[in-house]
Amino acid sequence: MRRKIVAGNWKMNKDKNASIGLVQEILQSNKLFGCEVYISPAFPFLNEISNICESTPIKVIAQNVSEKDEGAYTGEVSLDMLKSVGVDGVIIGHSERRKIYGENDEVLRMKLDNCSKNDLEVFFCIGETLEMREKGKQNEVIENQLNSTLFDLTDFKLDNLVIAYEPVWAIGTGKNASSEQVQEIHQHIRALLNLRYGKISESIPIVYGGSLKPNNSKDIFSCPDVDGGLVGGASLNSQAFLDIISSI
Ligand code: PEP
Repeated sequence: MRRKIVAGNWKMNKDKNASIGLVQEILQSNKLFGCEVYISPAFPFLNEISNICESTPIKVIAQNVSEKDEGAYTGEVSLDMLKSVGVDGVIIGHSERRKIYGENDEVLRMKLDNCSKNDLEVFFCIGETLEMREKGKQNEVIENQLNSTLFDLTDFKLDNLVIAYEPVWAIGTGKNASSEQVQEIHQHIRALLNLRYGKISESIPIVYGGSLKPNNSKDIFSCPDVDGGLVGGASLNSQAFLDIISSI
């Protein structure tokens, strides 16, 4: 059976006190999670939030990592730095990083490779724009995104991989993909993983992201090829996040 996962991407929201408050609210709910739960606070608070989450069921992941190991790269944060503050994994290839910060396939490939070699979990985001969806090219886009990055690496540690299908047109827009659209593309991603890696790929979780809310998560999570969600906006509210977690 595949792992079930719900992860919250806090993006550039919540200062120190608000971040600590949010994680404490989630932990105080005392709920037994029916899936693996991850949160992704901003860089400055990773150390403190990792400490708070130690010995709890919540894992902490970073929203980004440098493709470089160390040196004169002003403003960058390395993988070793993340590991040294107890971070469990990294989100790579989020559409905001691709679009706003120009992260291209070459950079993404290097980040993926580094994380794999250093045993960090990876949430690798892929997804089409509205323009490509309207042209019916979503499957092609996904295939190209995988072929030019992940599939190009020879030794990627699949145990550490979570694929996040995040259609760009559904992120932060309040417009989620329908469960039929999600199932169709997750099935396609699973077939591509199978072609590339064979049977072992059946254990790779594929989660959905894009305006997931308590009122649509149950429907989407019920799709056979959906193994959970990557949640943006709704993860900033403890009750909404907990409701999404319980709907899995
Ligand atoms: C995201 O940015 O990963 C995301 C899914 O955002 P939202 O849930 O706000 O659409």
